[in-house]
Amino acid sequence: MSVQELSDKMIDAIAGIAFEIGRRARAEVEERALWKPSSTLWEREVERIARAKAQSVLVDYFVGQFKPLACVVADDGSSITCTRCGMTSYNLNDVQKRFCGHCKRFHVNP
Ligand SMILES: [Zn+2]
Repeated sequence: MSVQELSDKMIDAIAGIAFEIGRRARAEVEERALWKPSSTLWEREVERIARAKAQSVLVDYFVGQFKPLACVVADDGSSITCTRCGMTSYNLNDVQKRFCGHCKRFHVNP
């Protein structure tokens, strides 16, 4: 494996982990924002949630229960999101070919 390939694999893994941390944190923040009124403590609470989600993703990663993804395809197959740059494409060619038009890369999930 070349240095460039190894570097790409590491960047994909780190981006996939960061993407999953964001996904889990956003899900809890959105769920709790429905019933928790905004307050000066809310930002600290959001930070606490993000930290807890980062810990849970890293634990899952190190025990092998979470594999970072290079891209995430919507359940209905209508879009693809690149975990490296965060861009979502609704172009069905991109979805089928697992391509990110921003990064100009084809994704390979583990
Ligand atoms: Zn991308």
